[in-house]
Amino acid sequence: MPVSKAWQERLANAREQRIREQRWRCRLVNTRRWLDFAGNDYLGLAHDPRVQAAQAEGARRFGAGAGASHLVSGHLDIHDALEDALARWTGRERALLFSTGYMANLGVLQALADSHTAIFQDRLNHASLLDGATLSGARSRRFHHRDSSDLERLLSRSTATHNLVVSDGVFSMDGDVADITALGQLSQQYNAWLMIDDAHGLGVLGNNGSGCVEGFNSDTVPILVGTLGKALGTSGAFVAGDAALIEHITQFARSYVYTTAQPPSIAASTLAALTIVQHEPEHRLRLQQHINYFRQQAEALGLPLGNSHTPIQPLLLGNELRTMTWATRLTELGIQVGAIRPPTVPKGAARLRITLSARHTPSDIDRLLEGLESCLREDVVCPA
Ligand SMILES: *Cc1c(COP(=O)(O)O)cnc(C)c1O
Repeated sequence: MPVSKAWQERLANAREQRIREQRWRCRLVNTRRWLDFAGNDYLGLAHDPRVQAAQAEGARRFGAGAGASHLVSGHLDIHDALEDALARWTGRERALLFSTGYMANLGVLQALADSHTAIFQDRLNHASLLDGATLSGARSRRFHHRDSSDLERLLSRSTATHNLVVSDGVFSMDGDVADITALGQLSQQYNAWLMIDDAHGLGVLGNNGSGCVEGFNSDTVPILVGTLGKALGTSGAFVAGDAALIEHITQFARSYVYTTAQPPSIAASTLAALTIVQHEPEHRLRLQQHINYFRQQAEALGLPLGNSHTPIQPLLLGNELRTMTWATRLTELGIQVGAIRPPTVPKGAARLRITLSARHTPSDIDRLLEGLESCLREDVVCPA
């Protein structure tokens, strides 16, 4: 049967909308050597020979894949060891592995919330948290970014049986950090649960690298989600909390129950990465030096920096064309940055998303700054 005309039109529209982005992607793939200021490998652990070796050795010892879901026969000793280590590191009773952060957020929200729940989310939360709330069937409200009085206004009006406050720890496009103290106080005052997704803070923030919730126990932050594909350099995610909470999620999170367990080799390499994070603070310190240096130099050049002290350093260019022009120029110089446009960020908030890593050298950062300086020299401020 031929595809209907309406469908053909829909597909054509989508194609047109995406065409610029796709060309962009091809060009990135085709170019050979890149100075990467777009990724999330903040500590350089994806390329650490010890982590790489642990993954290879893990595959030899435990198999290339888990072969089944966790609750059938896919959950191996190495998964258990990683869950224990993650629980200890974050100061929680238990941790539970998921295959990706996206699936962790879908699963946790779907397991904990239903139509009698109201979910309160920061406006700039990650897409997976928004999608998880939709999937759960809960009533969803979004509060202004990092605005606790707006959250309080919403909480005070809630008539739901259960209230759940949800926030990114470090916001992925802005690099700023949630006010955990304020979120914790409001959640306790209004008898709400607090869930923090610290995908970008784990491994980077805190004296022990255990993220923006370091120092907050599970009385304040009962539900903690972390991902393993960013600072830990591998892949996957976990949720950490009290034993009863984790047991509930184990039984009811469909994205945990109905999917193949994380490959055991990934669990092995993640365990190696976690050991490095815990015993070698020097990577975190080098990263912090890079952040300070970049900000100081960028400020001197007059670049439109955001208010971030994390490895995510947005340059707020505002206009989409301007953002693409700058990104293209950097591409020509062999430098890769994120060109972030609506709908990923609000209209008028297009930006370059620059990320720093402990793996960079000071001269890498100088090359980036020279590139940005040349963008500034040739800058055309385009009409919106
Ligand atoms: C990256 C990210 C995720 C998704 O994690 P994946 O493991 O890549 O699926 C979830 N939440 C936040 C805040 C993120 O930045």
